[in-house]
Amino acid sequence: MEHLDWPFFDDKHRELASALDAWCVPHLAHVDHSDIDAACKGLVKALGEGGWLKHAIAGTALGGSAEVIDTRAICLLRETLARYDGLADFAFAMQGLGSGAISLAGTPEQRQRYLPRVARGEALAAFALSEPHAGSDVAALRCEAFDDGDSYVLDGDKTWISNGGIADFYVVFARTGEQPGSRGISAFIVDADTPGLEIAERIEVMAPHPLATLHFRGCRVPKSQRIGAAGEGFKIAMRTLDVFRTSVAAAALGFGRRALQEGLDQAKTRPMFGAHLADLPLAQAKLADMACKIDSAALLVYRAAWLRDQGKPITKEAAMAKLVATESAQSVIDSALQLFGGRGVRMGEVLESLYREIRPLRIYEGASEVQQLIIGRELLK
Ligand SMILES: Cc1cc2nc3c(=O)[nH]c(=O)nc-3n(C[C@H](O)[C@H](O)[C@H](O)COP(=O)(O)OP(=O)(O)OC[C@H]3O[C@@H](n4cnc5c(N)ncnc54)[C@H](O)[C@@H]3O)c2cc1C
Repeated sequence: MEHLDWPFFDDKHRELASALDAWCVPHLAHVDHSDIDAACKGLVKALGEGGWLKHAIAGTALGGSAEVIDTRAICLLRETLARYDGLADFAFAMQGLGSGAISLAGTPEQRQRYLPRVARGEALAAFALSEPHAGSDVAALRCEAFDDGDSYVLDGDKTWISNGGIADFYVVFARTGEQPGSRGISAFIVDADTPGLEIAERIEVMAPHPLATLHFRGCRVPKSQRIGAAGEGFKIAMRTLDVFRTSVAAAALGFGRRALQEGLDQAKTRPMFGAHLADLPLAQAKLADMACKIDSAALLVYRAAWLRDQGKPITKEAAMAKLVATESAQSVIDSALQLFGGRGVRMGEVLESLYREIRPLRIYEGASEVQQLIIGRELLK
């Protein structure tokens, strides 16, 4: 926790991180992951009761901790949760990402209807942007929303939707056709029980999380459920991702920190060649590399978060943080697993689970190659 002394933070951030760390010990030590949906719902409820979800929404009158989402706070929260339990980090992140468009661009009625329940952990949120043919190239999305009097009718498919199947509402991005490409997309809040919204398939992944493909077939939503102006949906999606991209990097940092700690403990206690693993120079070099990667990632994460909280644009800085933190965490976890030898690959071991947990972070909310592209473009501007 020595990085909390860095000048990026205010005292309120230091207190927040320490308080969450203390909360995690009793609340996350024994999360039962055997039923992933039940575990996720339980974690959202616990995070709401603990007061942590207040940081995932904007608006103090609605139960939020601040008028705008504090990037350093959500990064510290995700880093800490990820150190203890990947699913707890996921549960927190989805409440923020799933309701982010409402926090940023919702009407007062939409904000009042959804955000207080999100902050209390009483309503689960989801963000439905990706489609089978539109992942990295998200502006190619095909799901359509036809204007039909005082409502829109949604038709199309969404896939890889986190919280799919357990969410109470989905923020869905669909083509309304004001202009071609990214300028003809709008955002909608679709309640989970809306006729025409079907959970078509649950998707099983290497690090189990609730995930699904959704079908919209003649799914009618009132115009009052549109977020922002017609045709503004792509911008709203990008603004939402802008808030949360740095926090993905923070989660990766948390996974990496846990791996470094596990690696250090293992090296100090594993007897080898008449001494301990930690006495061997090659093991020390490995630990040194891991620590350098962690600190480099942390500096990039909190630089981006601090800049954003100063109101500065962070396109390049957030991309750097996500790229370096996720790639570094994968490497740190791999090195830590190596220090564990055979035990590292045994099912149920902490390193085995971290090894699976980190992998999707290099893909979602912009794959590493997309981050490289963003950084390159920004440098060449
Ligand atoms: C666990 C998980 C949870 C997810 N949750 C959500 C969610 O809640 N909501 C949601 O809307 N989506 C979600 N996604 C979808 C995620 O955002 C997409 O998987 C991601 O955008 C990549 O899209 P794709 O899978 O279609 O891969 P593709 O777009 O087909 O990309 C495949 C690969 O191509 C490479 N690539 C991409 N662009 C370039 C480039 N410019 N140059 C060179 N190479 C490139 C990258 O290596 C990339 O991994 C989730 C995905 C996962 C795995």
